[in-house]
Amino acid sequence: MSRKLDARLQGHGTKFRLHAQPPFLEGYEIPETVWLSPPPGSIQPGPSDHRMYVIDPKEKKDFYEDPFSLPFKGPAHPPAPPCPQGHFDHHGQDSREFRAAHMYGTVRRVLDIWEDYFRGPIPWHFRQTHDRLEMIPWLDWNNAQFGWAFMEAGYGRDGQGNRHAYALNFDVLAHEAGHGLVFSMVGIPSERNITAEYRGFHESASDLVAVLSVLHFEKFLDRLLRKTAGNLYLENMLNRVGELSQTEEIRLASNAYRMRDCIDVRTPVEELSYKQVHSLGEPLTGAFFDILVEIYQNNLVRLGAIPAELNRDSTRNSKLALAGDRLHKQYQDCYAQSPDLFRQALEIARDALGYRLAECWRQLRADHLTYGGVAKTFLTIDRRLSGNCYQNAIIESFRWREIGFGYPRSRKAHEAH
Ligand SMILES: [Zn+2]
Repeated sequence: MSRKLDARLQGHGTKFRLHAQPPFLEGYEIPETVWLSPPPGSIQPGPSDHRMYVIDPKEKKDFYEDPFSLPFKGPAHPPAPPCPQGHFDHHGQDSREFRAAHMYGTVRRVLDIWEDYFRGPIPWHFRQTHDRLEMIPWLDWNNAQFGWAFMEAGYGRDGQGNRHAYALNFDVLAHEAGHGLVFSMVGIPSERNITAEYRGFHESASDLVAVLSVLHFEKFLDRLLRKTAGNLYLENMLNRVGELSQTEEIRLASNAYRMRDCIDVRTPVEELSYKQVHSLGEPLTGAFFDILVEIYQNNLVRLGAIPAELNRDSTRNSKLALAGDRLHKQYQDCYAQSPDLFRQALEIARDALGYRLAECWRQLRADHLTYGGVAKTFLTIDRRLSGNCYQNAIIESFRWREIGFGYPRSRKAHEAH
């Protein structure tokens, strides 16, 4: 869809430049030009539009605690202006204006992508009290968050202690925007009916928003396929969400965690630590990552890019996939022959998962949410769309993670990672 989306917006939308991955990573130093849905001239200095605006405070040390203090009223840097044609792709990469435009552009792009998957507008969950989202691109804080009508970005540190602005980190911002999207489409449970699984689901869904959104950058997608020769179970850059350096990342989308590795889901929500909530999201994220790869491989076979045996040999269960020199060699040969079919298969899988997740989240209820319920809803939606084509792969992916399908809800309590 990125091709479709960019082609549709080209000449009609507004140009921005975004880094698909943080600029300190090799190969991502130069941002890509993307087209966003608002028509040129409709985005005001800030950037600012009818749904969101950036304010760049001169000094703001603390994160918001009271959303009713919005908008930020302290001294701020001048808003980033558009060029005379209404675009925002002219700001120098090291400027404050670029950082502001990058934050706006990332959130707007995530909305464009997911409003397409949801086949309609995604209203803000805070619309009863605020019309627009306030975005703060720099805060002296080692985190980022999406709160009630605001989003704030601080920084992450790499192993050498260097600070990297999250306003330039597409994954981190897309993850935060994902939280907003889930609040809006799945809803907010009552205090009495919130489950540990709802909290884990939120983190997982936000990671999936980031992973599928980054796959809409053409250069990222091509580079991913080139580096892995199309063998996506290999550890690769798509697996990493919120990358801080070449070797560090916040979470792995392609992880091997099962429910037995997490805290017992019956643990009262108020007792869950930040770390436990995030680790609880990992088996669910991992299941959907595997489903993405299975749909992709299935389409590689259908398009004639790989033989059916190669698809059978490369599953998460298969030792071959992990040991894999011979298997990888086969992928290299196939990829060298038809790179375009690999790209096509990945775009099909990305959008298949995007449309299914959007419909699944729309149908879920926030109260009493369980992973078993998520799996069942997803499976039913897929059956309606594709018959039995992907059903076994989906069931296997959830089973392997010990989600739904007869697995007891309660697990032995383990220490979380
Ligand atoms: Zn989060």
